[in-house]
Amino acid sequence: MTNLFIQFYNEGNDRAFVENSNDWGRMERSADTRYDLFQTFVEDSVIVGFQLALAPIRGSRPREQYPKTKTKVMPELSPENVLSRIIRGGDEAVLISTSKEFKGDPFSALPVKIEDLSSEDAVSIVNRFSIFSRVDPSNRRGVMLVVVPTEVLQFPRDSPSATSAIIRAITTSVSGTFDIHGPMRLTTFFNIGPKSGSSLIQLHAQVYIFDGLEHRVGSTEYVFFKSYDYQKKHDMCLACQLTERTSANLADGLDDQRSTFLRSDLDLWEDEHMILRLAYAPLRYAHLRIFPKRHIAHIGDLEGEECDSLGYAISLGDYLMKDILGSFWGTIPEDDRSVIFRQRTDGDFHMLVDMLPVYMGLGGAELIIPLSIHSKKPEQFAKLMRKTMEDLPDYLQR
Ligand SMILES: [Zn+2]
Repeated sequence: MTNLFIQFYNEGNDRAFVENSNDWGRMERSADTRYDLFQTFVEDSVIVGFQLALAPIRGSRPREQYPKTKTKVMPELSPENVLSRIIRGGDEAVLISTSKEFKGDPFSALPVKIEDLSSEDAVSIVNRFSIFSRVDPSNRRGVMLVVVPTEVLQFPRDSPSATSAIIRAITTSVSGTFDIHGPMRLTTFFNIGPKSGSSLIQLHAQVYIFDGLEHRVGSTEYVFFKSYDYQKKHDMCLACQLTERTSANLADGLDDQRSTFLRSDLDLWEDEHMILRLAYAPLRYAHLRIFPKRHIAHIGDLEGEECDSLGYAISLGDYLMKDILGSFWGTIPEDDRSVIFRQRTDGDFHMLVDMLPVYMGLGGAELIIPLSIHSKKPEQFAKLMRKTMEDLPDYLQR
């Protein structure tokens, strides 16, 4: 029994395990556990964090609830969409930056009639339907920005240059705002596709900038920050060690994770500024992670060429994810994505970007622990994605 289990992990072959085994939980070994080392820390000998259970037999369970055929509900993008119309001018908007130039303080700029902005690459504007008040004089001010490329576009994979322009416009908006107000809390993400929570089809990113740096922190952010503090306590930054390919020196019960975390068979692409790879302990199938090679805490600190590399990595990641989810999974939408920035503005940190497919809601166990249970290893996804990369379309070659 044990031998077959190990055989799967060595060869990535779950058929051997499933067809020749007694299941019913009578294996001699439980599923392999991996921790996402960027959201895990050890406190008083307790490992606190996100875990992945790699359990090949789970892939063979009956799936009555899943639709038999893939349903694709992806609306058409028209040049007459709301955001593209604003860029062509004529409507009112609050312009904060282009990809090159900071235009106005997001906390005080007023709506004006917009001239034609089509000659720009991307722009940041204030979200008209904000959840924050920009003018609240108490310590609860906030601003929501929408960052849009001028190219009419639905997915990052269709234009690395437009995706890079979005990153540049975010960086310009954030650094310009911080120059005026000092560092503030920052939330940055792309919602892509109808299942992601996005209400608009035109590709766009969103940025929340808000007061209260010292008073509030989200529980997910907190775990990432604590994890980084734990790394520092051990005199290291895992993201730096990954980019420099030096070995990680975790202890306190996480030492069994350290050699495999750095494994090169998760890597997909890198240049002098960014690394794109499969997450070692994915939150969802095909979870990709992008690491800046420079030790910077948030997107406002990115420099020109780094923005271009990050934009390219998001484009490429989106392409690879669609290809793999489209080719062998009937139950996960190919097109919907969350692209989320893990970053910190009130202290030392190494930012990273998570790209996740969007699919069914989280189950009970996932909501409690949290964890993922996967029947396929991320290394297997990486292998398939590297194969796809041998035959990329010209515009994605770099
Ligand atoms: Zn670092």
